[in-house]
Amino acid sequence: MGNFQLWSPAMSYSVSPIGFVRSCFKEKFAIPRQPHLAPAARGVLELVAPFDQPEAIEGLEHVSHVWLLFLFHQALEDKPRLKVRPPRLGGNQSMGVFATRATHRPNGIGQSVVALDKIEPGKLYLSGIDLLDGTPVLDIKPYVPYADCISSATNSMADAAPRLIKVNWQPQALQQASEQAQRLQQPLVELIEQCLAQDPRPAYQSPQPERRYGTRLWDVEVRWHYPQPDQICVLEVVPGT
Ligand code: SAM
Repeated sequence: MGNFQLWSPAMSYSVSPIGFVRSCFKEKFAIPRQPHLAPAARGVLELVAPFDQPEAIEGLEHVSHVWLLFLFHQALEDKPRLKVRPPRLGGNQSMGVFATRATHRPNGIGQSVVALDKIEPGKLYLSGIDLLDGTPVLDIKPYVPYADCISSATNSMADAAPRLIKVNWQPQALQQASEQAQRLQQPLVELIEQCLAQDPRPAYQSPQPERRYGTRLWDVEVRWHYPQPDQICVLEVVPGT
């Protein structure tokens, strides 16, 4: 507890969002744990005044990817944690907060490198995102390959992307997803496959075949189950109520 007293509000600074992300992810469950893991995950960063003026993004047309610094607005906490249990380690091993990319962290700041697909005044079209709908963005910076890509970098706790599991479809669910994709004009089938292949269930849960899981992507509800522990079958893709 003594450590928390050193973290004095007297040293606080205030920051304000420069925009908000309108994302395909309407709830936290099944969002990939890092960017790029689901290239079909799309969203639009809507800039707020005065950053919605063309001057603020002049030059971004030269850039394929941007860093977003954002607030984990649905995970903010009053008391800072020193240790967290990252899902990557199965959720039962704790680690110093600064050794992880956990959402529960001092100041609640997240960072993601995402693809910048299109630019319009006040709007940046993004893909490969790992951000919840409504995420407040604090800053945007261009990705600079020569400085940001370190080919010799190591991290023995997270040395490769998570292992993918197989995603199968009930024929009717695939038909439903294709119809909804057409309506939304979004790569919904790919989005579902890419997100579910990450195996969103908590690692400590051994899924029973009768248990149903679900999440909302865009405005549709996606439901699936695990016929076997390492396999997903998509059961239903229906408009949300
Ligand atoms: N790439 C970022 C980073 O390293 O700072 C985020 C990593 S964090 C482990 C990714 C998870 O954050 C997602 O799976 C999602 O569940 C959660 N998340 C995304 N946006 C959020 C938000 N606005 N508030 C709370 N949690 C959020």
